[in-house]
Amino acid sequence: MEAVLTLSLLGAAGLLIWAVPRWRLRRALARPLARHELAILERNVEQYRAMDPVSRARLERLVRRFLHEKTFVGCAGLEITDEMRLTIAGQACLLLMGARGDAVYPALNAVLVYPGAFLAPRRQVDAAGVVTEERQDLLGESWGDGRVILSWDHVRRPGLVDAPSHNVVLHEFAHQLDSESGATNGAPYLGSPERYRSWSEVLSRDFAALREDAWFGREGVLDHYGAQDPAEFFAVATEAFFEQPHRLASRHAALYEEFLKYYRVDPRAWQAAHEEPSYSAGVYGQWQ
Ligand SMILES: [Zn+2]
Repeated sequence: MEAVLTLSLLGAAGLLIWAVPRWRLRRALARPLARHELAILERNVEQYRAMDPVSRARLERLVRRFLHEKTFVGCAGLEITDEMRLTIAGQACLLLMGARGDAVYPALNAVLVYPGAFLAPRRQVDAAGVVTEERQDLLGESWGDGRVILSWDHVRRPGLVDAPSHNVVLHEFAHQLDSESGATNGAPYLGSPERYRSWSEVLSRDFAALREDAWFGREGVLDHYGAQDPAEFFAVATEAFFEQPHRLASRHAALYEEFLKYYRVDPRAWQAAHEEPSYSAGVYGQWQ
């Protein structure tokens, strides 16, 4: 009898441990964003400004879940503000607008924010096998162990200064999606083998074209940074898909189709063609 009681108590405790986070999540999702929080989304997520009410509600729900689940850590003396939390969560959740279900980057635990570009140790191996250790200035970095690191100074830039085609948040969170498939290799989880076949065919072709453009110094809608490897190509193309959808669709129609099928949203609905920047992208820093 005692054993049965102990077991049932243990069972109840287990249920409680499982139920409390669910209850907290439900409560967090039920609480609407405050007016000042919505104002930050309006100000710093330009796609949100152009969304219909249903899409806005979807983004707000994803943002609430993001803020509930992820820890923000200020680095190098930076104090995390609502402006930072809402701006980063709002932009990161754009990538999930068409996703099935409400999961928000399940492998991600923490977003580390530096005031500006940060130094990270890098190990380089040249063709002769010589290893050099150096420190590199980075604007953002995505890790498969549950961390994204961002320079707040560069998160604020999209739409505000001279490089709207870059978006370090979209870039790093594209890497997060990419790594969910088990390897960060430019192919996120796609489902069927046919989808992988078509993805690989289209992206390989455009990746090769971008490498050629980078070699000859020809500027286009895709940043030459994406010519490094397929993972960077996917991240750079994701930036263009959400920031310059009309230009990407007209110059890379097949790539745009693949991204429509993957992201299950059409960002052209959130931006008029004439609002897109007409100049081409230029590298103004480096991220991983
Ligand atoms: Zn990258």
